[in-house]
Amino acid sequence: MSHITLPLLLKNRRPLDPNDRDPCRDCGHCCRYVTVKLATPRGRLDFDEIRWFLLHENVFVFIDDDGWHVEFHTACRHLDGWRCGAYESRPRVCSDYTVDQCERYGEGDPFIHYFRTEQDYLEYLRRHRPRALEWVLNPRPTAEKNRARRTRAPRMPRRAVQAVG
Ligand code: SF4
Ligand code: SF4
Repeated sequence: MSHITLPLLLKNRRPLDPNDRDPCRDCGHCCRYVTVKLATPRGRLDFDEIRWFLLHENVFVFIDDDGWHVEFHTACRHLDGWRCGAYESRPRVCSDYTVDQCERYGEGDPFIHYFRTEQDYLEYLRRHRPRALEWVLNPRPTAEKNRARRTRAPRMPRRAVQAVG
């Protein structure tokens, strides 16, 4: 049996039909991934970490109205075909999720940005966060920069500067 995958879901996204009595029929997509919310990246290490996620197979990153998330494409062990094999004892995170939150149904693109590859991410940084792109492409300061830091004259403490003025 074939199953609907994420790219297909996005292309075929449509409003939920209130008369459809089984909108999850033949799907099971939401049982095939795990998402974890990320803190909004701000510093060098945050942006570097997102690149690291994207270097792994079946790991994706997206931004939506709720912020940044990492997504792991991996099926739940309870998934039986396209239905839950442990419906009565499924985790709260599953029972709280309703079809009206589903990315399969609705208008437009549910994601502001969806990064499938490192290249997607670097292109996003190039367009929107050029400083972070520089951080990501140069994850460690070069030996020369380190040397320059070591040989730079020590800065005068602020209080001493005020005393001179
Ligand atoms: S909630 Fe959406 S993704 Fe999950 S099984 Fe139903 S239609 Fe598919
Ligand atoms: S426990 Fe059931 S509803 Fe929850 S992810 Fe697994 S298969 Fe889906």
